[in-house]
Amino acid sequence: MTVLPCPTCQKPVAAEAPNLPAAFPFCSERCRLIDLGRWLGEEFKIPARIEDTEESEEGEPPLP
Ligand SMILES: [Zn+2]
Repeated sequence: MTVLPCPTCQKPVAAEAPNLPAAFPFCSERCRLIDLGRWLGEEFKIPARIEDTEESEEGEPPLP
């Protein structure tokens, strides 16, 4: 029997072909969404940094 750790909570997930969890390789749909949210959170951090310069309304001074 093959057992893989859930990427989110490290709980062992049985990887038997007929009994694969719907959220495989995650142990549950909840862990799948947690991991998905983690990825989305990382992506949202990138535009958030750009918004740092939102105070300049009329053209930004050129960067050095
Ligand atoms: Zn899990």
